[in-house]
Amino acid sequence: MSVLLTGAAGYVGSHTCVELLNRGFSIVGIDNYINSSPVALDRVRQITSKDFPSYELDLRDERALRAVFEAQPIEAVIHFAGLKAVGESVKKPLEYYDNNLYGSIVLLKVMREFAVRSIIFSSSATVYGAATQMPLREDMALGCVNPYGWTKFAIEQMLRDLCAADPGFSAVLLRYFNPVGAHESGLIGDDPSGIPNNLLPYVTRVAVEELQRLPVFGNDYNTPDGTPLRDYIHVSDLARGHVAAMEYAGAHKGCEAVNLGTGKASSVLEVIKTFEQVNGVPIPYFIAPRRAGDADESWSSTEKAERLLGWKAEKGLGEMLRDAWRWQKQNPKGYHA
Ligand code: NAD
Ligand code: UDP
Repeated sequence: MSVLLTGAAGYVGSHTCVELLNRGFSIVGIDNYINSSPVALDRVRQITSKDFPSYELDLRDERALRAVFEAQPIEAVIHFAGLKAVGESVKKPLEYYDNNLYGSIVLLKVMREFAVRSIIFSSSATVYGAATQMPLREDMALGCVNPYGWTKFAIEQMLRDLCAADPGFSAVLLRYFNPVGAHESGLIGDDPSGIPNNLLPYVTRVAVEELQRLPVFGNDYNTPDGTPLRDYIHVSDLARGHVAAMEYAGAHKGCEAVNLGTGKASSVLEVIKTFEQVNGVPIPYFIAPRRAGDADESWSSTEKAERLLGWKAEKGLGEMLRDAWRWQKQNPKGYHA
């Protein structure tokens, strides 16, 4: 089976490439490298000892995308490509709607033209908005608090509408919780450009002494130690979840939303302490003001993923943090060494 991955060179995409190749799938990668490097795909080839075609193109370039579908026997799509920085989306909403929403529309139109009717979409737990009832379940009400979230919400709705209009179409909307960690080889990992927005890349850059101290955004939340609770999930577990979702979509028509989380919640201070323990590296930090929009807690019900996909996360926080550190230590400047 041949699978097209949009955003293949990105953090989650590259780990999913490895998982698919190891499971015997043929893959085709496309990426415009706006937030990644082609080196990531070379590392995927190195890890798996397998080659595959990859194209540098922008998803919104309909003609170039059509040429890929003409050249390759694509049967299913995993759609990772998109912009993902929440703060940036507040400042540049149009760029986010254009890239994420319009890019998805172009992709779906070309898929329709080539009769490809199976898609796995990278959604996010952010579509639960300011929900306070935990764990978050797929049947809960949705609502977003920033433009990034609204692009995910809108694409989810578009896919639901498409499945309703075409009974032969399959879509799985994967709502990721907090992906962290890296492939066990240390060859691929999270490589954000500039000052990281997310907790883990900030922690590893403090560990490698590129940044001095980690700002902990508030310790007065309604949680046991005052810092927010999140559901951190190993990116390799997440990658396995995509293969399970693809197999599900191959056997079932219609649209399903599925959370990919571990069902366990960890606080920011627990992440720091566990990182120090498993890696033997100090993480100097200070308590900074709250970051706007951060919720007390966000963690997943795992019931639907287990029931529908037969998938469950296996790796614990210690393993996530060991692997994140191995990646950063081996690649102190990421892919741009
Ligand atoms: P990433 O930025 O590492 O990967 C996205 C990839 O898409 C990048 O390689 C980027 O260059 C590419 N891309 C962006 N716009 C494109 C376009 N118009 N044409 C072609 N390529 C384009 O992000 P990631 O962490 O791997 O996330 C993958 C997906 O999962 C994204 O859609 C993101 O919104 C979603 N997601 C990520 C997280 C997270 O914390 N990492 C959480 C929830 C959801
Ligand atoms: N966080 C922090 N300092 C940072 C980055 C993040 O204290 O430099 C906290 C943030 O407040 C949240 C948690 O770490 O409670 C996870 O944040 P991240 O941005 O990684 O993911 P989010 O849950 O916001 O999607």
